[in-house]
Amino acid sequence: MVTGAASGIGAACTARLRDGGHSVIGVDRHQADVVADLGTVDGRMGAVAAVSRLCGGSLAGVVTCAGLAGAPDRKGSLLASVNYFGTVDFLDGLRPLLAENGSAVAISSNSTTVQPAIPAELVEAFLAHDEELSRTLADQVGSLVTYPASKLAVAHWVRRMATGPEWAGSGVRLNAIAPGMIETPMVAGMRADPEVGPLLDMLPIPIGRAGQPEEIAALVELLLGPDGGFFCGSVLFCDGGSDALLRTRDWPAAWDITVRDLGQQLGS
Ligand code: NAD
Repeated sequence: MVTGAASGIGAACTARLRDGGHSVIGVDRHQADVVADLGTVDGRMGAVAAVSRLCGGSLAGVVTCAGLAGAPDRKGSLLASVNYFGTVDFLDGLRPLLAENGSAVAISSNSTTVQPAIPAELVEAFLAHDEELSRTLADQVGSLVTYPASKLAVAHWVRRMATGPEWAGSGVRLNAIAPGMIETPMVAGMRADPEVGPLLDMLPIPIGRAGQPEEIAALVELLLGPDGGFFCGSVLFCDGGSDALLRTRDWPAAWDITVRDLGQQLGS
């Protein structure tokens, strides 16, 4: 099952998986097996029910690509509901359908580490699963800032949930990919915006080009399949080196904890 299957990264994932012989259920607002608005509670619930029917109650893999970019004339609340709740609630809803050895991949973003000034309060509202507060805060800060906040919260949700009883404990792997700039209709739309377009080229990409959606699809296929069997709670940056360039020493970060405190934490 792939969300955002009608365009860009989701379309590339769908094509690659179908080429590999898999049956893929696409979910999107249009041109998909399941047409649904993942920005609404009813849309998410209806899509979970429709996917459940189409897959006969069992899925091998889930990929959540549906998302919206920030834009000066787009409300932050829309991004909050689509990018964060449309991802995590959908993953939660489909989790029981994932068979043992199943695997899920959420699409985060390298804006989580390369875009400055992400509002912490909004990230916490997401992680507290308070959609109403998240939408209010998102409208206050605007969609351009809500975007990296929603993607940071998705990455932290994945790391928190992946190791718990519902996911790793049930034999189902959950990971995230943080793409850098990928040439898709989303980026084409951003380039066309007079305010946002010039900002795109300010992002240094050491490899000297933007990525292609097929490069993300290849990573998705790896994470879904048996060759990705040891990935659990990982957030894989695939961004031509922007994160490594800008945040070189920030992570992996040494852990400022004593061995005794660590023992207590593991024991608790
Ligand atoms: P895209 O615009 O080409 O595709 C996104 C798809 O999501 C579209 O088909 C759209 O209809 C669907 N979608 C949007 N709102 C929806 C809703 N409410 N319900 C159901 N479907 C909805 O974008 P893309 O570049 O392929 O982006 C895919 C994902 O990757 C997004 O989550 C995006 O944030 C993320 N991402 C993209 C880039 C990039 O540079 N392109 C970088 C980092 C992360």
